[in-house]
Amino acid sequence: MRHALVTGGGRGIGRAICLALARKGYFVSVNYLSGKDSAEETLRLVQEGGGAGDLWPFDVSKREQTNAFAEAWRRKHEGSHIEIIVNNAGIRQDNLMVWMKAEEWTRVMETNLQSFFNVVQPLLLPMLAGKFGRIVNVASLSGLKGMPGQVNYSASKGGLIAATKALAQEVARKDVTVNAVAPGFIATDMTADLDEKELRTLIPAGRFGKAEEVASVVSFLVSEEASYVTGEVISVNGGLYT
Ligand code: NAP
Repeated sequence: MRHALVTGGGRGIGRAICLALARKGYFVSVNYLSGKDSAEETLRLVQEGGGAGDLWPFDVSKREQTNAFAEAWRRKHEGSHIEIIVNNAGIRQDNLMVWMKAEEWTRVMETNLQSFFNVVQPLLLPMLAGKFGRIVNVASLSGLKGMPGQVNYSASKGGLIAATKALAQEVARKDVTVNAVAPGFIATDMTADLDEKELRTLIPAGRFGKAEEVASVVSFLVSEEASYVTGEVISVNGGLYT
């Protein structure tokens, strides 16, 4: 059995990624923060499709919790290790910089960027020893171009992109690849408060993307076929920014 971890796999893009990886035959460990019901629904859908997985509630922004997860996971899946990590959990707390509260800055940075270190670092050594691994970070268009009203979010995703490129070079010799996807506007809970009617006029494809359209790119990046692709950022944005 080969193992994958998807953070924030309970809903939205993360759920679509869990289903795509399960279809590839991976046992999927689904992380979530507090949305137990939706995470259980993800697992049910995985199993309905003939796949297997388990649920791991923890806060990716808290190092003691990610360390505890890594230890508990190893105890439960003795003799195995996680080959695929998809760092998908993320939040936005938008505000103009002049009004931004320190907590809005910190919470977004900790959840979207610090989490990369928290989650990956304790799982990296076994991946390197196994001489195969795939790390995919779900960044954002905001991390490439910077978005007004999202200085915190843009900084966190820009940092994640830089970390992707740096780690890719550290681990390439061990057949571990590190890539990022940069979604534009994707229809999930995260964008439910946005005016799609107005925003879609800006998108060459004329619509918001679907979570499955991000998952299919992640599915390629974790495949054997993508073995020579590393340190890349692939936009999934309907032509919004190229
Ligand atoms: P979403 O529907 O709001 O789902 C977010 C997921 O992240 C949920 O499963 C949530 O868990 C989990 N999560 C949040 N904070 C967490 C924490 N501290 N620890 C563990 N899990 C946590 O968001 P989405 O649209 O699918 O976004 C997924 C990723 O894509 C994010 O990184 C986001 O920044 C990125 N992205 C999204 C868009 C878009 O248009 N939707 C565009 C660009 C990038 P609970 O269910 O337990 O709350």
